[in-house]
Amino acid sequence: MPSVIRVGGPTPPPPHPSIVARVEEMLATAERPLFSFEFFPPASEDAERTLWTTIRELEALSPDFVSVTYGANGSTRDRTINVTRKISQETILRTMGHLTCVSQSAQDVRRVVGAYADAGVRHILAIRGDPPGGPTAPWEQHPEGLTNATELVRLVASLGNFSIGVAAFPDIHPDKRDPELDARILVDKAEAGATFAITQLFFEPDRYFELVERVRAMGCDLPIIPGIQPVTNIKQIERFAELSGATLPESMVTRLRAHQDDPASVRAIGLEVATELSENLLDGGAPGLHFFTLNRSLATRAIHANLKLSRAQHLSRPGPTSPVSPSSASGFALPPVEVVRRFWAARLDDDRDAMGALLDPGVSWRVVGDGVPGARAFDHREAVLDDLGSADSGSWSHELTNLIVAGDQVVTELRATMHTADGPGTVFDIVAVMRIADGRVVECREYRGQAFARVSASVRDGGSS
Ligand SMILES: Cc1cc2nc3c(=O)[nH]c(=O)nc-3n(C[C@H](O)[C@H](O)[C@H](O)COP(=O)(O)OP(=O)(O)OC[C@H]3O[C@@H](n4cnc5c(N)ncnc54)[C@H](O)[C@@H]3O)c2cc1C
Repeated sequence: MPSVIRVGGPTPPPPHPSIVARVEEMLATAERPLFSFEFFPPASEDAERTLWTTIRELEALSPDFVSVTYGANGSTRDRTINVTRKISQETILRTMGHLTCVSQSAQDVRRVVGAYADAGVRHILAIRGDPPGGPTAPWEQHPEGLTNATELVRLVASLGNFSIGVAAFPDIHPDKRDPELDARILVDKAEAGATFAITQLFFEPDRYFELVERVRAMGCDLPIIPGIQPVTNIKQIERFAELSGATLPESMVTRLRAHQDDPASVRAIGLEVATELSENLLDGGAPGLHFFTLNRSLATRAIHANLKLSRAQHLSRPGPTSPVSPSSASGFALPPVEVVRRFWAARLDDDRDAMGALLDPGVSWRVVGDGVPGARAFDHREAVLDDLGSADSGSWSHELTNLIVAGDQVVTELRATMHTADGPGTVFDIVAVMRIADGRVVECREYRGQAFARVSASVRDGGSS
């Protein structure tokens, strides 16, 4: 190939380091945990549109990498390669393709690696994959294929200079249920050429730390990134746990089941659980977090925002003489989503004390209304509490129907229904944008007659509605 000689013109800038650096290099040098997002290949045009909206929304968070899963049958494989190629070529995201050896010869696997390389994809998550009968069906090796993920790692490493990730199992792989074997297999994978691992979903931080300890005790320093699955739906998470062998802690299930008929509360609790788990893992030294997004951005963005803020709060933790602020069990100020969730729960219960504890004394509260019940403004806690308590709560019921987090602001939607002697009557939606500092609401703008989507989009875009 002739070499290219550039005559005149500006020297091209060096490639952006964040695009060129490999995951293992970032893991070795980054002064903060890495964040990454996992997608699956969409099965329809509608699903593809949803995925691209999600990718664009999550791209704004500058993740360190994103990955696309690999399905068990041929059509899914083509979709995986196509969407991975498109993300790699049409976004600035570092993109990792998953690769399995299910129902494929070694030659088929080589071809897929070639397709990834052609698309500029240099990161591959090499996993065995589950047989077409599902994760609990017995493994069937292709007659000309590979036996396990370790062989796959070796094959990919032999084909080029790839950055190779592998799977790890804090809750123990369900096939053999042998923690020592799981750790030894990770060591084998590292020796075969893997440079990092990502875990299956799990909910108890200790399981992760135990796995890391077992691997370290075998003399292997393979970085292990925890995989985080935000719970947004009880049935779905029970199914995922069954398939992956993950254990659902009793306390979490009880918390979720107590609100199973209220999807907004289930989501809020799910976000809280995932935030707490992520915080515990990062505080214990996990090198990053890999979010299974299920091709939606809302939950992942909310957790990402919670973590950023709560980690900042860890740094500026109030000293012993600082005023006491509402805190979580760990003693730190509550994350914004939790403050807002508790505030509305107290509001719905008409619990003035609980509401007051979550409001800053100098809270600025503005109601911007098109009539019902009218615009008004307050600049201190007592006035807000008097106003909230003045409505005849017996005639109204409220329901939290939507919630997103954007930095230190949380946008919620409440559906208010008026009850008369003839039954439920007028219904209207209240959209509220709350700014939280140090575990308290310092500012709230309540909108009447405005769509949640419009207000939340403008908060996301401009940081204010
Ligand atoms: C982050 C992540 C992403 C994933 N993405 C996908 C995806 O895109 N597509 C997909 O189909 N699946 C995916 N999976 C699921 C994965 O394919 C399954 O969990 C699979 O059952 C195990 O994969 P593995 O790479 O760990 O396999 P392996 O390491 O090969 O292990 C598989 C089984 O073989 C046993 N075994 C392996 N080596 C040995 C040995 N030397 N001696 C004795 N026993 C051995 C193990 O104990 C285990 O029971 C993913 C999992 C994770 C954690």
